[in-house]
Amino acid sequence: MAKTTHIAVIPSAGFSHLVPIIELSKRLVHLHPDFHVTCIIPSLGSLSSSSKSYLQTLPPNINPIFLPPVPINNMPHFGLQIQHTVTLSLPHIRETLKSLMSSSNNNVIAALIADIFAVEVLDIASELNISSYIYVPSSAMVLSFYLYLPKLDYEIVSSSEFRDLQDPIEIPACVPVHGRDLSDSVQDRSSVVYKQYLERCRRLSLADGVLVNSFTELEAQTIKALQEEAKEKEKKPRIYPVGPILHSGSGSDENGSGCLNWLNNQQPRSVLYVSFGSGGTLSQEQLNKLAFGLELSGERFLWVVRPPSNNPSAAYLDNSNEQNPLDFLPEGFLERTKEKGFVIPSWAPQIQILSHSSTGGFLSHCGWNSVLESVQKGVPLMAWPLFAEQRTNAVLLTDGLKVALRPKGDENGIVGREEIAKLVKSLMKGEEGNEIRKRMSVLRDASANALKEEDGSSTETLVQLTLQWKNLGGET
Ligand code: UDP
Repeated sequence: MAKTTHIAVIPSAGFSHLVPIIELSKRLVHLHPDFHVTCIIPSLGSLSSSSKSYLQTLPPNINPIFLPPVPINNMPHFGLQIQHTVTLSLPHIRETLKSLMSSSNNNVIAALIADIFAVEVLDIASELNISSYIYVPSSAMVLSFYLYLPKLDYEIVSSSEFRDLQDPIEIPACVPVHGRDLSDSVQDRSSVVYKQYLERCRRLSLADGVLVNSFTELEAQTIKALQEEAKEKEKKPRIYPVGPILHSGSGSDENGSGCLNWLNNQQPRSVLYVSFGSGGTLSQEQLNKLAFGLELSGERFLWVVRPPSNNPSAAYLDNSNEQNPLDFLPEGFLERTKEKGFVIPSWAPQIQILSHSSTGGFLSHCGWNSVLESVQKGVPLMAWPLFAEQRTNAVLLTDGLKVALRPKGDENGIVGREEIAKLVKSLMKGEEGNEIRKRMSVLRDASANALKEEDGSSTETLVQLTLQWKNLGGET
């Protein structure tokens, strides 16, 4: 009888923590049609419409199991909410895994792969004797920071904040990063958010391996250092760069199709796409400045607008705000820019937009999926980070890879209209933008190479890992 290798994967709440691990699962079953993946899905409240429509497109050998939703609570930080959702779902995860094991012929689940926010399941994996892996849907630089933080926390006296350090922090083999550009979760070391974050970082080393959504050609030094450290000191976890693993864009909702028609009528590379991810939001003041800045630049733009909030991650887990975002734009803006701009409320078909020949730049909040999508399509970036690890990504993109321009804010972090207009022009038409475009083309080709079926670096890494799992597969 044919052997089937069973894998269990556990995402955490939020579109951008669900999609990457499912896309990884798709890659596994694509490379090995004899793999069967069960995706055990915790959720906070009901799933968002984008998550629901996304999950309708799963291939038959990926089976979703939806856990009872955890009620939405008003925790002060989205990281706490995500963590809390996993914690409350743990008993269901344990039961589901046990029942999967008893229903598989030889009780074997070859590997359990959990999202970084679900590190708590490592205990269950060890209890049930399953090989355990964490999937980090972020850069290798962010992964290096996770692994470095326990040491940094020990070395820097706990009464001082990283953002107050004079010198940039030297994460091994990474571009130096100022403390203020680290994750917002580590900006207050006395907070519960920080303590949970640190604990997640510590627990990473309990996994048998860590898969990271990056590729050797993108972060060569960092990845090499991570792998060598794991090998030399025989320290767990082993590091597996498997990216870029991205949503193909097919099956996404069609609400934005008007914008694709509009793009069809624009000149090649003439449009700046503006989006802050699945839930990033600007304050009303910043929204106004961005509108005026885009207008002042005179460049064409396609902007995904969300209702404003002073909490930049307000819409990340809660898309229930039904106010019309266009009502918050400055008076007369839509009329004045109707020849140059197209504005979409809340959600757009991003992959199709980035793939379109009229798109020439991307003003992005630097969520890692957006960054990789831009790299994969060779689109130059303007880095406008808002929360989570986005500022660290912005440092990698500007100081490290040199494929983005980053506007400067005032003492309150607000970016003015002149600064916006200047950088937009420079990105779309200036010499700097041109150089960035060239560097992006190199990365675009490298990202395609990493995924080549024959000898792509990330394909080879994944195949090497999955062959180990295959040997554990059971009869069906
Ligand atoms: N996305 C999209 N349309 C939108 C906004 C976002 O398709 O209007 C997708 C985008 O292509 C990416 C994901 O949502 O795959 C956002 O992930 P990212 O890591 O960039 O940011 P996050 O949502 O975690 O802040």
